[in-house]
Amino acid sequence: MKANDPVYIAGHRGMVGGAIKRKLETLGYHNIITRSSGSLDLRKQEEVDSFFAAEKPAYVFLAAAKVGGILANNTYRAEFLYDNLMIAANVIHAAWKHGVTKLLFLGSSCIYPRMAPQPIKESFLLTGLLEPTNEPYAIAKIAGIKLCEAYRDQYGCNFISVMPTNLFGIGDNYHPQNAHVLPALIRRFHEAKMNNKPSVTVWGTGTPRREFLFADDLADACVYLMQHYNEREPVNIGKGEDLTIKQLAEHIREVVCYKGEIIFDAGKPDGTPRKLMDVSALRRLGWKHSTSLKEGLVIAYRDFLQQDQLKLH
Ligand code: GDP
Repeated sequence: MKANDPVYIAGHRGMVGGAIKRKLETLGYHNIITRSSGSLDLRKQEEVDSFFAAEKPAYVFLAAAKVGGILANNTYRAEFLYDNLMIAANVIHAAWKHGVTKLLFLGSSCIYPRMAPQPIKESFLLTGLLEPTNEPYAIAKIAGIKLCEAYRDQYGCNFISVMPTNLFGIGDNYHPQNAHVLPALIRRFHEAKMNNKPSVTVWGTGTPRREFLFADDLADACVYLMQHYNEREPVNIGKGEDLTIKQLAEHIREVVCYKGEIIFDAGKPDGTPRKLMDVSALRRLGWKHSTSLKEGLVIAYRDFLQQDQLKLH
């Protein structure tokens, strides 16, 4: 991939696509192709086909997806399955049809079996039952990975896929109900601080363990793999270290400077008990993250405050 190659980022308005765009711009890429979902609906095959025919991208980062936290995944089950299946199928098919040199598909750590041994190796895919709350999303993402493999097998396409762990960062979704835990808690702690509330409620028991990677680090890894990785096997992208939801809540309380109590609502689902990536393949390929959880949380809190500010004006 060279600086003047036409590179299409599907989903550039999302947190991951936005981070990939910033990264490529920093590296001097000046032929980046983007479309908002308003002007190109990736769920419509004909629209995607015409777009590829007209723009002829050489490289594709497939970061477009309908995403959300545990509640959104479980509530909008049909949309999470349909939208994500259509996006993956349409973009991957068009990339083959229009001769894309290389495509990188973003999967997710939730594609692994709910009770997968920890840390989770890439080879554990399809070895057990999925976590029911996000099964529709996971099935769509698994289909995307299998499409990349199948187009490689049958047509020789250089399509690779990566499996990021839980992400957070600039441009995240801070919706109180539909967001993932980290941005949802940034909002909740901030609002409790502003309203002098004595306590903040965190869903579940606080015991599930999760790993959190800063989105700009993920973008760095994606660009690195686009440049250096050409194999069929999906690659996990994470830090290889996790913490409990309780510990995460305590870190966020500190970054937000909230002084009240933390209460756990065990009536809300915990989801998968643990989700820690085995990142030994990524390490062997020569990549490691550079942002600590604390540094990332400070940047994310600033991003939340900016988004909140914009909404008030
Ligand atoms: P998951 O990693 O796919 O399970 O997605 P989430 O980020 O939505 O949830 C991770 C864990 O955080 C689960 O155990 C949730 O129950 C817990 N959690 C605690 N408070 C919240 C919250 O306010 N929002 C969300 N989404 N999860 C929360």
